[in-house]
Amino acid sequence: MRLKNVPGAREAIAASDLVIKEPQELKGKWREFWNNGNEIHIEVGMGKGKFMMGMAKAHPDINYIGIEMYSSVLYRAVQKLELEPLENLKFILLDAKDIAEVFDRGEVDRIYLNFSDPWPKDRHAKRRLPSRQFLARFDQILKADGVIEFKTDNKDLFAFAEEEVEPAGWKILDITYDLHNDEKMVQGNIMTEYEEKFSSMGNPIYKYIIRR
Ligand code: SAM
Repeated sequence: MRLKNVPGAREAIAASDLVIKEPQELKGKWREFWNNGNEIHIEVGMGKGKFMMGMAKAHPDINYIGIEMYSSVLYRAVQKLELEPLENLKFILLDAKDIAEVFDRGEVDRIYLNFSDPWPKDRHAKRRLPSRQFLARFDQILKADGVIEFKTDNKDLFAFAEEEVEPAGWKILDITYDLHNDEKMVQGNIMTEYEEKFSSMGNPIYKYIIRR
């Protein structure tokens, strides 16, 4: 998702308290930042923030951080959160390839990847968020028994993601090829923007939960 040239996006992000500026300075200090002893869950590639806002509302005892690389997209999330600020949700403008510069080893309790960009060309495989290259980055920030939850309607991307799990040193804890009809895995499911759009077209949603 890339919304080009949204006028004022960069300025609005720079002025918003909902976006953490210089997040690298908080590396190793995120627990102090929240100062409430609660877990820290992040979504990488948040888009316009629907999932993060839904999760933050449903789980006030968890701290959430939404990460998005494009200011034009993040701006939309900021606009939504400004209408309904949530104490336990902040945003970061960041390309997740640099995520280990922002979080220290074990500092993140859970990572969500939702409807990640498929990057269909083989030569772009390492840009896919469930790729082994990104799993290695997530390995550097996720606590020892932390999990990554990934969902998508893209069959090829999901097949690729499944194949990456073991070679990257992770294992599948749970998997479904039809999330919305999986009694167990659908519990507590909060739909993302893309999930609403693609499931309403009849696409099944695939999901895995992995850990090391
Ligand atoms: N998660 C949302 C959803 O399910 O509705 C948005 C899905 S959208 C297809 C993928 C989002 O991930 C885009 O907004 C894109 O800019 C962001 N993204 C892709 N690669 C990223 C990266 N390396 N770091 C941060 N965000 C990224």
